[in-house]
Amino acid sequence: MHLDEDKITLLVEKVVERLVSPNASRTSPTSAPPTNTSRPQSYRMRVQSSDAGIFATVEEAIAAAKKAQSDLRECSLKTRDAMIEAMRQISREYIQDLATMAVEETGLGRVDHKLVKNKLVIEKTPGTEILRPQAYSGDNGLMLTERAPYGVIAAITPCTNATETILCNAIGMIAGGNTVVFNVHPSAKRVSAFYIGLLNEAMRAAGAPENCITACAEPTIASANTVMKHPDTRLVVVTGGPAVVQAAMNSGKRAIGAGPGNPPVVVDETADLKRAAESIINGAGLDCNIVCIAEKEIIAVADIADLLKREMKRLGAIEVTGRDIRKLEQLILTSDGGVNRHFIGKRPAHILREIGISCDEDTVIAFCEVADEQHPFVQHELLMPVIPMLRVTNVDDAIAMAKRVEHGFRHTACMHSHNIASLHKMARVMDCSIFVKNAPSSAGLGFGGEGYTSFTIASPTGEGLTTAVHFTRERRCTLKEYFRIV
Ligand code: NAD
Repeated sequence: MHLDEDKITLLVEKVVERLVSPNASRTSPTSAPPTNTSRPQSYRMRVQSSDAGIFATVEEAIAAAKKAQSDLRECSLKTRDAMIEAMRQISREYIQDLATMAVEETGLGRVDHKLVKNKLVIEKTPGTEILRPQAYSGDNGLMLTERAPYGVIAAITPCTNATETILCNAIGMIAGGNTVVFNVHPSAKRVSAFYIGLLNEAMRAAGAPENCITACAEPTIASANTVMKHPDTRLVVVTGGPAVVQAAMNSGKRAIGAGPGNPPVVVDETADLKRAAESIINGAGLDCNIVCIAEKEIIAVADIADLLKREMKRLGAIEVTGRDIRKLEQLILTSDGGVNRHFIGKRPAHILREIGISCDEDTVIAFCEVADEQHPFVQHELLMPVIPMLRVTNVDDAIAMAKRVEHGFRHTACMHSHNIASLHKMARVMDCSIFVKNAPSSAGLGFGGEGYTSFTIASPTGEGLTTAVHFTRERRCTLKEYFRIV
């Protein structure tokens, strides 16, 4: 069947209307709250999606995921693998649409960088292969340990990596044999509902039960709390700021909390400055700095601070100086010293225009030297491509300052140095889930660095880069005598 563009647009409008309409649930068309039916204008989908997995109420979403979980238990590992491959494949096909929709709906970040982040999740999130059974054999026979599903998982996702977190969590949780109820960020609800529909359809075509991942059409803080505290959700996995991590800890359930970071990057006098400058621009500039692992402040040893600045400017970063720093403070901070959300996830050109500085639309970061570490640009996780730089006398002072400004989140830190002792010291002192040496922070997510990826990095609860291993429970079976084959 051939559809021209107008027909496709009409089709998509109908699908999107359904996703946001009070009758979003196919199984329960009643009792939905009133919805906002506004939507971005430029949605252009290549093929149809559906509202599979999207329900009018969170209770219905949980009930459907519970039913799906008992059906999934009957499925083979081979089917689980096929479901995961189907999620990867449909995500590859829709990557451009998902990136565009996420930027249009949330107003955060850049389409080209979201393509990079989504591709990373598609290709490098581990599936069932990471779940390794263990066997101990001895005079008393055999002991086998396997990883089993919790059941239904409550997953709360952020607006900064809206689609990336959904796919990353879905792959890991399904790999473990769980089903998932997502409570997505309200400002990403449309792209999330669209994506959950796509993923469910893809899994169904691969032999999965229906509703392996579900969500309610109108997520709120209240619905997040309902899903976290509901007796039918066994594990709570949250990705977001400090409030939601605290809420997860208070849920009364086992909780995996992936909270905020404020990653420092230290550059010492032994560093390759061209490489350091390039890495900082690429890491801190990723998706307009909204990624939790992105470099948030530069701490440079005085000997090389000016040279580093020069390299950064040569590679396209823009430095804000003098009175313009004050103007920038007035713009991106609120009157009570907080962060002006209006500028989160915006490009430097957009931000600097407001204070009368013009720069190329493709400029990735702006930076400014600030006098001391108490400066709000250093203290706050700004989540925008405005990076403060601090100058210190030596590398030991730099490491000590990095430790203080990271606020004990133990999330991510980076260092550029060729002094092995300094690299070793900072790695130990920072005690972070991710420590990156001589590369952009994104290398710690496996982008240009070794290892798998995860977009739920649980520092408060200690799992680090979460995978199916963390979304499963350990079960032991002891077989007395016999079964040992030697
Ligand atoms: P956010 O905390 O505003 O929202 C995250 C999710 O939590 C949303 O679904 C939101 O609706 C929900 N939520 C917020 N407050 C809640 C409360 N009191 N009770 C219940 N639910 C609540 O975060 P955001 O703006 O979407 O994302 C940015 C933040 O998330 C940054 O701090 C960033 O560092 C952090 N983050 C961390 C990771 C990680 O892996 N550690 C990954 C992405 C984002």
